[in-house]
Amino acid sequence: ETITVQELAARMSMRAVDLVKELMKQGQMVTANATLDADTAQLVAEDLGHAVKRVSEADVEEGLGGAADTDADMKSRPPVVTIMGHVDHGKTSLLDALRQTDVVAGEAGGITQHIGAYQVDLGNERKITFLDTPGHAAFTQMRARGAKVTDIIILVVAADDSIMPQTEEAISHAKAAGVPIIVAINKVDKPDADPNKVRTDLLQYEIQVESMGGDVQDVEVSALKKMNLDGLQEAILLQSELLELKANPDRPAEGAVVEGRLDKGRGAVATMLVERGTLKRGDIMVVGSEWGKVRAMSDDKGAQVKEAGPAYPVEILGLNGVPEPGDTFHVVESEARAREIAEFRQRQRREKAAAKSSGTSLEQMMAQLQDSEIKEMPIVIKGDVQGSIEAIVGALDKMSTDEVRVRVLHTGVGGISESDVILAEASNAPVIGFNVRANKQARDEAERSGVEIRYYSVIYDLIDDIKAVLSGMLDPEL
Ligand code: GDP
Repeated sequence: ETITVQELAARMSMRAVDLVKELMKQGQMVTANATLDADTAQLVAEDLGHAVKRVSEADVEEGLGGAADTDADMKSRPPVVTIMGHVDHGKTSLLDALRQTDVVAGEAGGITQHIGAYQVDLGNERKITFLDTPGHAAFTQMRARGAKVTDIIILVVAADDSIMPQTEEAISHAKAAGVPIIVAINKVDKPDADPNKVRTDLLQYEIQVESMGGDVQDVEVSALKKMNLDGLQEAILLQSELLELKANPDRPAEGAVVEGRLDKGRGAVATMLVERGTLKRGDIMVVGSEWGKVRAMSDDKGAQVKEAGPAYPVEILGLNGVPEPGDTFHVVESEARAREIAEFRQRQRREKAAAKSSGTSLEQMMAQLQDSEIKEMPIVIKGDVQGSIEAIVGALDKMSTDEVRVRVLHTGVGGISESDVILAEASNAPVIGFNVRANKQARDEAERSGVEIRYYSVIYDLIDDIKAVLSGMLDPEL
């Protein structure tokens, strides 16, 4: 636990320069941006006549989320679905086509609003919510911030193209998150479509569809010709039955941010997905390090709504600042409480930035390995040729034991991309580059998120380092 001089001064309602002077008197040569550890901060504050109450996360955020739900409170809720797949395989077309299957929208004649998520009503109490930012970057970014909103991933694979690099990435992201996949084999209307090749190719990625004896559902569709969309929807509903998706609607709402933006006239606008409880107009919420009062809510058809239950995406107005996708929100009892938590989180964020913790280094990984029960080391590997990647994965497999093992989240041929880093971040993993480098976006993302990228050109060096981490012997000076 640390605090900056500036922050400490602010909390004692004194100027930072005065605190710096005070610290200098005590023999500490520091600037306003320097960080003090908790003990030092307490000492100097007490010297200055302040009663010190150390506030930990547990104190401020205690009680957030409230009591656990009982089985009797739980009601079925619609599944939340994200569509992933290679570029041009038809993600956007499929999202648009699915959206048009809504039975109610047709009647009401509402105007489609792109708020980041939409819900289709299929009649008979059957509903499905889709996140309409396709692709794995958004999905994993949300996961990295703590949101686990997606229940099911639709992996779109064009039947005339089969598995491509971003298909592979999507599979890795889905697996890392532990979210079940339904394969949508798209473009089956094309003359050169070969759905069976897709099914066979998927075996290499340990995805065994039902017709190949596995338990992953696959559905042939054409987004363009709107063929078999109901088949895909049936598959989604079946999968969600298996998942027994339930939530208690009768409690203060909590959930996650899907999108946030600043609107010139309306201020902060954010799309929220309620995970449990019911969000109501007038509710006071804390969201990430922002807070606000829900002034207005509207849905993806542009209709004003007063309430939003689980898995019903709504756009809300009334926040003091723009939250980030993946930030979680909680409805709280008062503005004072919302403000307290938001300010606490802002402080925490600043302190984190100031401490600039180096994130996921191999050394920290080792410390984690020593702490945690499950001694598993996640890792992302990119290499120049498939052969060397296979050799590395094989060697890592061999050194895994019952107590410690390497979990390869993703491998791929080619340079390290932003997507690789985001995937690593979400699982606290380092990225290994074997004879490949990271591009600019990837380096920036790694810098921002503290993900460690390590480069190797000799397999044995790489294996040695990982072995050292696994056996808890890595020299901290490395
Ligand atoms: P995305 O990049 O994955 O979002 O792919 P798009 O939805 O933008 O589709 C890429 C291209 O494939 C567009 O020209 C679509 O019209 C076309 N496309 C999408 N689905 C189908 C389909 O089922 N059949 C055929 N023939 N073309 C399709």
